[in-house]
Amino acid sequence: MCGIVGYVGGRNAASIILEGLKRLEYRGYDSAGIAMIQGSAITVVKKAGRVEELIKAASKVSLAGTVGIGHTRWATHGGVSDINAHPHLSSDGKFALIHNGVIENYSQIKAFLLGKGFTFRSETDTEVLCNLIAYHYGKESAGRNGQEPFLESVRKALRHVEGTYGIAVLCVDFPGEIVAARKASPLILGVGDGEFIVASDASAIVSQTRNVVYLKDGELVHISAKGFAISTLGQLDVSPVVDRIDWSVEVASMDGYAHFMEKEIFEQPQALENTMRGRFSEDSSTALFGGLNMTPAEFRQIDRFLFCACGSAWHACLVAEHLFERFARVPVEADYASEFRYRNAPLDPQTLFFVISQSGETIDTLAALREAKRKGFRVLAISNVVGSSIAREADGGIYQHVGPEVGVASTKAFTSQLLLASMMALYVARMRDMSFNDGADYVGALKSAPDLVRRALAQAPHIRAVAKRYAQHSDFLFLGRLSLFPIALEGALKLKEISYIHAEGYPAAEMKHGPIALVGEGCPSVFFAPRGEIFNKIVSSMQEIKARKGPVIAIATEGCELPAGLADELITIPDCHEAVLPIIATIPVQLLSYYIAVERGCDVDKPRNLAKSVTVE
Ligand code: GLU
Repeated sequence: MCGIVGYVGGRNAASIILEGLKRLEYRGYDSAGIAMIQGSAITVVKKAGRVEELIKAASKVSLAGTVGIGHTRWATHGGVSDINAHPHLSSDGKFALIHNGVIENYSQIKAFLLGKGFTFRSETDTEVLCNLIAYHYGKESAGRNGQEPFLESVRKALRHVEGTYGIAVLCVDFPGEIVAARKASPLILGVGDGEFIVASDASAIVSQTRNVVYLKDGELVHISAKGFAISTLGQLDVSPVVDRIDWSVEVASMDGYAHFMEKEIFEQPQALENTMRGRFSEDSSTALFGGLNMTPAEFRQIDRFLFCACGSAWHACLVAEHLFERFARVPVEADYASEFRYRNAPLDPQTLFFVISQSGETIDTLAALREAKRKGFRVLAISNVVGSSIAREADGGIYQHVGPEVGVASTKAFTSQLLLASMMALYVARMRDMSFNDGADYVGALKSAPDLVRRALAQAPHIRAVAKRYAQHSDFLFLGRLSLFPIALEGALKLKEISYIHAEGYPAAEMKHGPIALVGEGCPSVFFAPRGEIFNKIVSSMQEIKARKGPVIAIATEGCELPAGLADELITIPDCHEAVLPIIATIPVQLLSYYIAVERGCDVDKPRNLAKSVTVE
């Protein structure tokens, strides 16, 4: 993960870098740091903690200068500390480096460099790369191939590196320059008038310039105030393609809510409206998507779908699996993107891939997309961030249009992914066996989702009271069946993420095959008990929990009759079509997790150890 930003130009670099870091903080918030070339030395300010801590520390130091680099870290190698914060200096103090990614062979390189007399202050893999550059620089500037020793020493060092990186490097001997490079981690160059800004995300660039070059894997860029040159690790020159960003960075504000997560939960009706706007055809009672880049005839040829994602988006894939199979009668598999890449699954040639990622930068998902494309499959993406790596590399896709999601635990982006999964199921079903009338019912159900979500949200005060009663428990089970099994997983994930409470999601009937051993007074079970043909089976599972003194929190359809005394707490959701049930059922578990986290005094929007966009494997 982590965010990197570097500036070369005529203005004060520190203020531009610190502003960029604020925008990149969602990528990691373990520590932050900045390095500037000042005279014949590099000044580094870095602090464990949030970017705010860095801004305070930086205000006590003079950071004049027009060239600098900054970083916000999500630690992979080495604890969260000032010393392990980036930028890192080489042991001779000549180079400063910021890095997003993991240097997998760092221990071998470190052993080699220790033998050459280099010293290390931190435990990071990044400092090893910085010293490796310094090592090659010593050799380059000693005369061999010494035309551009700064650039060449970075290139040479990177050729010895295994793993992933987005880096930006300063060198005291070339005070007006930055060398940056990428492999698997994103890197974008903003091209201004006599100034350049390199960053891992366009959001750190667009307030300065809208002209950008998306660097490709294995490319380096050498930047000075006079211009920039791109070349490959193999020393080939690359002609840059300058794209124009035509979207703005929406700056989210809390609008009176206590946390972004709370605001994002409550703005879901509007977010769902935005996701579905203009995407229905009343004439043919189906969904419409503008960016699939596939004709209906091509779509009709597909006889298998594979959905890949990570985290909450993977839960959306599981819901897609259920809805596609239920309504379109087509086989679907949902896979963790991180597993798909390495398990080498045999695939039917008529398989269509879908990847889902809110940020569009999730590295495991991007790697799965590339692996699928490499094998010749067409890949479509569902993403919220316009211009993200996944959106650009997919063959086609659908934007979520829910606006920036700031809370690290996904809420509105997740329900919007569920909505798109359901709309896609309709689209595919209507190409197959679903009738016009059933399609019309389905469209009507999808359109009712925002209002149903509003009704589910109206339970918030009651759910808050329930949360207060259970906030001090340390284990929870979330149990659901069919399309609500993934929502049980999502409920457990939300609670873990923001409340640090151990929670597990299971298909309700599986509970008796193991997890029931956890059940007792100290372990509440949150049950999804919607109206439907297996309602009575779910009631039996509740009885089994109750017989073992486990508290039962039931999320049931309004008007459903639960046996008296069975549920300790009853939360209702409005009756609805299966097409939207997973969306509506998500609302109570989002609210429950949120209020429990608030009750426990947790940092809801930036939970420990997490980051919004996971860009390391
Ligand atoms: N591996 C580096 C570290 O642990 C960089 C991690 C990141 O991408 O933030 O410092």
